[in-house]
Amino acid sequence: MIPIHPVTSDEYPRQTNDSMNSSENCPDKPEEACGVFGIYAPGEDVAKLTYFGLYALQHRGQESAGIATFEGTHVHLHKDMGLVSQVFNESVLEHLPGSIGVGHTRYSTTGSSRKVNAQPAVLDTRLGSIALAHNGNLVNTVQLREELLQSKCNLVTTTDSEMIAFAIAQAIDAGADWLEGAIQAFKRCQGAFSLVVGTPIGVMGVRDPNGIRPLVIGTLAGNPIRYVLASETCGLDIIGAEYLRDVEPGELVWITEEGLASYHWSQQPQRKLCIFEMIYFARPDSLMHNESLYSYRMRLGRQLAEESPVDADIVFGVPDSGVPAAIGFSQASGVAYAEGLIKNRYVGRTFIQPTQTMRESGIRMKLNPLKDVLVGKRVIIVDDSIVRGTTSRKLVKTLREAGAVEVHMRISSPPVTHPCFYGIDTDTQDQLIAATKSVAEIAQQLEVDTLAYLSWEGMLKATGEDPNSFCSACFTGDYPVAIPEQVKRSKLILEKAGV
Ligand code: SF4
Repeated sequence: MIPIHPVTSDEYPRQTNDSMNSSENCPDKPEEACGVFGIYAPGEDVAKLTYFGLYALQHRGQESAGIATFEGTHVHLHKDMGLVSQVFNESVLEHLPGSIGVGHTRYSTTGSSRKVNAQPAVLDTRLGSIALAHNGNLVNTVQLREELLQSKCNLVTTTDSEMIAFAIAQAIDAGADWLEGAIQAFKRCQGAFSLVVGTPIGVMGVRDPNGIRPLVIGTLAGNPIRYVLASETCGLDIIGAEYLRDVEPGELVWITEEGLASYHWSQQPQRKLCIFEMIYFARPDSLMHNESLYSYRMRLGRQLAEESPVDADIVFGVPDSGVPAAIGFSQASGVAYAEGLIKNRYVGRTFIQPTQTMRESGIRMKLNPLKDVLVGKRVIIVDDSIVRGTTSRKLVKTLREAGAVEVHMRISSPPVTHPCFYGIDTDTQDQLIAATKSVAEIAQQLEVDTLAYLSWEGMLKATGEDPNSFCSACFTGDYPVAIPEQVKRSKLILEKAGV
C-alpha cells in the first residue's frame, strides 16, 4: 500500500485563539456544526466565489474557515481559526488559483476547537490529492478509527472528517478509481454526512442515506457546465448561482468536464432531514422543500397561536431567529406585533472576554430592550427553542426591568429532551432543561407568567410534508441511525471535561 500523507501546507499562518469556544461566548442555543461549499468553474475566480459562498454560510460555523483550490494536479490550501472575513483577504485569495474549489466553515462537535482540525481536510492519494469538507457527525468513529489505525493510516487530527478522507484515500490506494474509492468509503460511514470532495479532475457532492444534513446544487449564471454545491441555497444566491435541486439522500453527484453524473450508492435511502434546520439553523432566506424557511417559521408561529393563545398587548420575537414565528403568532392571534428587543448585529463571536460588571449585565451584550415599547405592557415573547434555559431566564429579567408587567413565553418547537449525535451541539441530556423538568417547573425557573411549547404534531404539520421525512430525535429520542452506547458515553465524558 502507498503511504497516505496529510498535506499540511499553511502559507499564511495566523494566531489561533481557543477562547472562542469559551462558555462566555457560547449562546444557550443548539450550535450548527458546519457549512460546506464546492464549485467546478473553469475560467472563473473560484477562490473568490468560494469565499463569498462561505460568507453566506457563516452562520453554520464561526470557529474556523478554509478553502482548497485545484490547479491541475496541484492543490492550494488556506485555513485558520476565525470568521471567514478574518481568515481571508484579497492577498490570500490571489494565492488560491484553480478551476475547482472546496470551502468549509466550522463549529466543532467532534474534535476540539483547534487549527489542526480546521477543514477542508487535504490528503495525497495514488491518483492525486483530495480536499474534503464535511457537515455532520459520524456515529461509528470508534470502529472506523481502529480500522484505519490498524491499516497504518497516519491520522493527525481528532475529527471524523479526516477519517472519511483517509477511508477514500485508502480505497484509491488499493486500486479503486475516484468514484469507486469514494463509494467504498461512504459505505463504511454511519451517521450524518453531507460532503464536498474536491479532486484534480472534479468535485463530488454526497449525502448520507438519511439526508440528515442539507446539500444543494446550483449552476453558475445559468451556465450548465459550471456547478456549485452548498449547504443551503443562500450560498448559491450570493454568487448569482441558480438553484437546480437538492442532492438526494444516499446520492453522489460527480461534477467533471463531462458535466454532472448522479450515482445512488446506498441501497436503503430514506428522507430524514434534521427538523432543526427548518426551525432554527438554516438561514430564513434559504429554500427547503421549495419555500423559504421564513414562510415555514411564520406557519410555526400561527400554529403556536392556535394551540396556546394568551391575552396580551404586544408580541415580539427573540431576534433574529424568533421573529418570523412571532409575526405568524401576531397574524393568527390578532395581538399587535412590536419590536421589544434590539440586537447588536455586529457583535458576532468576540475574542475579548467581558468585564465582571458586563458579565453580570449578561444578555445586554447582544440584546437591548426598548423600554418605551415595553413599559406597562403585557408581552408575549416568542423564541425558537430552549436548551438550558439560562439565556431565557436572563431575558425575562431584562424585560421586567424594562417595565413589562406580564411576560408570556411561547416556543415555536417542542421541548428539547434528547441530545443530538448528528452534528449539532445540543449538550448532554442532563443539561437540557426539558429533560428533567415539566413545563410548569421550567416556567417557574424562567420566572414567566405563562410558558407554552409548540406540539410535536404541530411542528411537523406546519412543514406540509410527510412527517416521517424528518429527524426529530432531539424531541422524541427516536434516532434514525442507532447511537452506540460508547458514543453516548463519550459525549458525556467530553462535555464534563469541557471539551
Ligand atoms: S437529533 Fe435533533 S438536531 Fe440532531 S439531527 Fe435530529 S432533529 Fe436535528
